[in-house]
Amino acid sequence: MKCIINGRIVLEDKVLSGNAIIFDEKIRAIVPLEEVEQSKYEIIDAKGNLVAPGLVDIHIHGYLGEDASDGNADGLKKMAAGIAKNGVTSWCPTTMTIAKEELVKAFDVAREVKAEKECYGAKILGVHSEGPFINPSKKGAQPEEYILPPDGDFVLEHADIIKLITLAPEMEGAVKCIEKVYEDGRVLVSMGHSGASFDEANKGIAAGVRHATHLFNAMTGLLHRNPGVVGAALSDERVSCELIADTFHVNAGLYKLVAKAKGDKFCLITDCMRAGGMEDGEYTLGGQKVFKTGIQCLLEDGTIAGSVLKLNEAVRNLREHTELSLAEVFACASLNPAKAVGEADKIGSLEVGKCADIIICDDDINVFTTIIDGELLKM
Ligand SMILES: [Zn+2]
Repeated sequence: MKCIINGRIVLEDKVLSGNAIIFDEKIRAIVPLEEVEQSKYEIIDAKGNLVAPGLVDIHIHGYLGEDASDGNADGLKKMAAGIAKNGVTSWCPTTMTIAKEELVKAFDVAREVKAEKECYGAKILGVHSEGPFINPSKKGAQPEEYILPPDGDFVLEHADIIKLITLAPEMEGAVKCIEKVYEDGRVLVSMGHSGASFDEANKGIAAGVRHATHLFNAMTGLLHRNPGVVGAALSDERVSCELIADTFHVNAGLYKLVAKAKGDKFCLITDCMRAGGMEDGEYTLGGQKVFKTGIQCLLEDGTIAGSVLKLNEAVRNLREHTELSLAEVFACASLNPAKAVGEADKIGSLEVGKCADIIICDDDINVFTTIIDGELLKM
């Protein structure tokens, strides 16, 4: 049994000082320090730093030169180990709109790696399939030639590994597809890469859309006479929203607005691509050339092509640009996404009985220690 002492423990609704957190693979107790018989435990001294829930990234394509769309098991493990150093303890490897057989291969490999018991890094919750049922007019950096008409049967065939799917609700056959997937209940349907009007987006929500993919990016914007997908996603309280809080994809001045509108349905994601954690230079995304300069990744034609954001940096950015409490800011990158994908009974917060997925970081959210299912990772 392990015990973290001298930390400020970030709980769901407050930060707790003077307490210790006791865990094996699960969190067993959070108790006043003076009640802990320290000789009984393997002691981890947090030295006054924050002890926070492990972060949950439900939209991330790549890291350290690897990409979930490659369908490479070693690549997934390298990513899992890499993002764990940024405090991520659970994730959804995210596929692009690629050829169907490639997509199925990526699903198969994710399934394989997820089933492995060995602790290599952040745990795979399931795949986020971004596409292929999207609108070519809002494809962003997704290659158009692989876009397909919505097919609920395809989603359900792979529903054991798909955790969420991004689709455009206005495409022909989309409403039927959404209804089918929603009724099945295993896969979260998200609207994104969508040119839907406000009405079309609301029809999608009525059919079972419960999430919005990288809010504001690759979707119809919020105009006062034409509120678009953004208007529908912000207005309907059943819909959780992703945000790429790298200060480049969405102006940081809007973070407060999204936080106010969405509350505990506000989910920070990275949408990181393979250049994440790498030097500036030339990379690929879905077979297209991408150029990374600082926090920006662009296709040759200037289209924004995913980010190189780390989830702990997103937490830092949200903290800097909102008045949310520390507990609320962390929840946006842990409990809220865990809730969105139906995993909050196991992960997402420091609560007795949940997995011991814990990070230790400073007030600038620099992560020093990552613990997954009670195991300390080499940093
Ligand atoms: Zn993406």
